[in-house]
Amino acid sequence: MGNHLYDALFGRHEGSGADFLILPDGGRVSHAAFAARAARFAGALVAAGLAPGDRVALQLEKSPDMLAVIAGAIRAGVVFLPLNPAYTAAEVSYFVTDAGAKLLLCDGASEAALAPVAEAAGAALAVLNADGTGSFAEAAIRAEPLPVVPCESGDLAALLYTSGTTGRSKGAMMSHANLLSNAEVLVDYWRFTADDVLLHALPIFHTHGLFVATNVALLAGARMIFLPKFDAGEVIRHLPHATAMMGVPTFYTRLLDDPRLTRDLVAGMRLFISGSAPLLAETHRQWQARTGHRILERYGMTETNMNTSNPYEGERRAGTVGVPLPGVELKVCDGTGAELPQGEIGTIEVRGANVFQGYWNMPEKTAEELRPDGFFITGDLGYLDKEGYVTIVGRGKDLIISGGFNVYPKEVELALDALPGVLESAVIGAPHPDFGEGVVAVVVPEAGAELAPDTLRAALGGSLAKFKQPKHIAIRDGLPRNTMGKVQKALLREEFRATFATGR
Ligand code: ATP
Ligand code: MG
Repeated sequence: MGNHLYDALFGRHEGSGADFLILPDGGRVSHAAFAARAARFAGALVAAGLAPGDRVALQLEKSPDMLAVIAGAIRAGVVFLPLNPAYTAAEVSYFVTDAGAKLLLCDGASEAALAPVAEAAGAALAVLNADGTGSFAEAAIRAEPLPVVPCESGDLAALLYTSGTTGRSKGAMMSHANLLSNAEVLVDYWRFTADDVLLHALPIFHTHGLFVATNVALLAGARMIFLPKFDAGEVIRHLPHATAMMGVPTFYTRLLDDPRLTRDLVAGMRLFISGSAPLLAETHRQWQARTGHRILERYGMTETNMNTSNPYEGERRAGTVGVPLPGVELKVCDGTGAELPQGEIGTIEVRGANVFQGYWNMPEKTAEELRPDGFFITGDLGYLDKEGYVTIVGRGKDLIISGGFNVYPKEVELALDALPGVLESAVIGAPHPDFGEGVVAVVVPEAGAELAPDTLRAALGGSLAKFKQPKHIAIRDGLPRNTMGKVQKALLREEFRATFATGR
């Protein structure tokens, strides 16, 4: 028995002196140097009292050492939970306590704020700074390199908390096999090889940057230009040296705002991928016009990694998230799990080796969302077209029921986005005394455009049935988004809760 995940991602490169990380300042990290660091971090985890199956929480700025601690945890059979560095001490407290973490690693800057959190949760606290300093880095220097600890493929590798878009974050239990099977499929599907250089500007506390981007590059033996965060200027500086990029839609819209984005700049690129949130058809169109590349959109989530992707060689259909990946079964169902006819909107359910082991500490939630036959009820609404491409129309929790009729926010958003002067929009429901819920639209104008709610409403008259038309339209400079570019509809719902309180 080996340690499948460690061996596949890191072990087989261990002896190689080839570079694997390219840093913003031009610095390089070789596979061999990285593996040696990971082995010492694994030793430091054991020295801190962690045994296989114990949890270590990482609230760290993205850095080569953060990745090396993750590798070290996998090597030691220790379950890691990466946390968004933007989380407050109160939020970290929830995750560390929920996970029963024995150790919390943080940046020096947050040590004082997190000390009481760690103490209350009964966890040790140690510092690992992005520049490779801190008490845990020192412990790693003192530690003996740990030999690879054998693991079963069904063993837990990570507890990955969901983004918390629809409620409190849930800890998705990901096994070695969950992570490995999906990454293997993606390398093949997206044609990654050792010749690729992946521009990596995503965070690595989230499934997208960690289990999709990083794992795919590692499995393929590709190099990564490892940027600490997304910055359009930095990405533009590095694009000429890359062959592929994975990003969230906001990466693409920000890059489009920069005049330095030209065809020449991306002449060496072979692939641009987008996910984590819907890519607007307009962004697709503009990106193709500016760069000559068609963005490949795909769909996944914390609990399942990747479910679908537009094809590498076949047609990339704007507005769709492509077709189910090999090994992933996907069906569109009614509330009981019965499959709906092609073209009808329902809940997306998926099954495959990628589907997680359940939610940590939440047996009831797990039982609600994971069917006995292995299908996971994603909570996303969508439909299949004749060729099997999936279109996501939104989340079940965002569905608006107005006067007894279903209103899919996406349909209203698309109608609004198509109007002249509209950059983007978000549509939500607000309690309404007559209709149960009334449709509210928050609309962002294009730069320099003047928009008036009445004109927008009148313009929608031709394209949307009356019950779908927004009863209230607010014009805003932007939409509230989280780090992964997801529109935070819960915040908007809160803000517009009392809009119809007096029954307009
Ligand atoms: P929580 O589950 O805590 O409410 P979350 O669902 O936002 O948060 P993630 O697992 O990060 O947490 O996000 C997965 C979700 O992101 C999917 O269920 C889907 O709603 C959305 N998503 C991902 N990719 C796409 C895409 N290409 N188009 C539309 N939506 C997408
Ligand atoms: Mg979710």
